[in-house]
Amino acid sequence: MVTRRTVSILGATGSVGSSTLDLIERAGDGFEVIALTAHRDVAKLAAAAVRTAAKLAVVGDADCGPALADALSGTGIATAAGPDAVRDAAASGAEWTMAAIVGCAGLPPVMAAIAAGGTVALANKEALVSAGDLMIRATARSGATLLPVDSEHNAIFQCLAGSRIERVRRILLTASGGPFRTASLDQMRAVTPAQAVRHPNWSMGAKISIDSATMMNKGLELIEAHHLFPVGADRIEIVVHPQSVIHSMVEYVDGSTLAQLGTPDMRTPIAHALAWPDRMEGPSAPLDFATLGRLDFEAPDDVRFPALRLARDAVIAGGARPAILNAANEVAVAAFLGGKIGFLDIAFIVGKVLDGYDPPAPGCIDDVLAVDDEARRIAGLVMRNLAA
Ligand code: NDP
Ligand code: MG
Repeated sequence: MVTRRTVSILGATGSVGSSTLDLIERAGDGFEVIALTAHRDVAKLAAAAVRTAAKLAVVGDADCGPALADALSGTGIATAAGPDAVRDAAASGAEWTMAAIVGCAGLPPVMAAIAAGGTVALANKEALVSAGDLMIRATARSGATLLPVDSEHNAIFQCLAGSRIERVRRILLTASGGPFRTASLDQMRAVTPAQAVRHPNWSMGAKISIDSATMMNKGLELIEAHHLFPVGADRIEIVVHPQSVIHSMVEYVDGSTLAQLGTPDMRTPIAHALAWPDRMEGPSAPLDFATLGRLDFEAPDDVRFPALRLARDAVIAGGARPAILNAANEVAVAAFLGGKIGFLDIAFIVGKVLDGYDPPAPGCIDDVLAVDDEARRIAGLVMRNLAA
């Protein structure tokens, strides 16, 4: 008899969560779904829970609890609501947990999944950026397996297989450059949320799409890579590659450079994490090199994309700096999406918050959450001054 792998998905209604569900549903009988979580999208969560015969469905927003209980009454699927219930669901003992909540809100559940000691497929980059040192230490302590799902980090993980990290000369983190790769600063000043959210290669949630447009996404990924692959931040370089076919590269001391390639479809790295250390059938379209014709590369421009420099400074300084960068960015991106600030204001606000707030390094997750809270409060003040 083939044993079914037990899985939970945190952020099951989002872009990464939906791609994960798609793979699990295609795989048929191979997986048993324990818990699915969302924030407010009761209808989508309930439908996914019924389709996958999940044991438990949880909404993070406590106000949505009654609607979820209603939607699933009579199905035998247990329901719960509120941030603590999401954290408990993360610790519900699945062998494999997808961490795909967006933002630092995902940090407590990710830590709970890590403490439970199973395999944690990590998409939630904001959690790793904010609490990287603590998260890596907690993983070592619990014996959990942390598998990177972000396509670049999954690529690096694959390129590192079988080699010693001490033999790495450079990690090359590829970046598409986003929708404004060739735009002037004047053009960027005027862009709308609808334009910024339209990524040329990837289909993703709103927050990460804006991060890709400001290139803060690559900055966050630099910090992620620093924690996952400890070669030193000065050995992690960003190279713009507009086609998003090479998802990242590792250069070794002997001069070999290994790359992982694939069509830009998150189901490829998710499938890798889902089957690891084996491989499973994935649905993404194969690459057609003759049609592709060429792959281009260029250096990133941190004048038009100041988020890159802010993130590099934050990772070098360490301590609370990455958590401040992340929190201020989350606030600024939400304000931009809400039409309250301009596109170039996002990095400006992040820079201002970093300038005005320099607490000691967090020693525990509660410290990180306190830094996150305070950086959000300061970002609100900076925005109010901008508007005045
Ligand atoms: P989405 O916005 O599409 O989905 C976010 C998910 O998190 C939804 O299920 C949402 O629930 C849930 N959620 C939002 N806020 C909370 C909260 N406060 N508490 C609990 N759950 C919450 O995001 P993506 O899927 O695009 O991204 C998820 C993470 O993966 C991000 O960290 C992103 O940076 C990372 N990532 C994404 C990639 C992509 O291709 N999309 C690629 C690489 C990394 P609801 O639907 O109910 O609001
Ligand atoms: Mg990525």
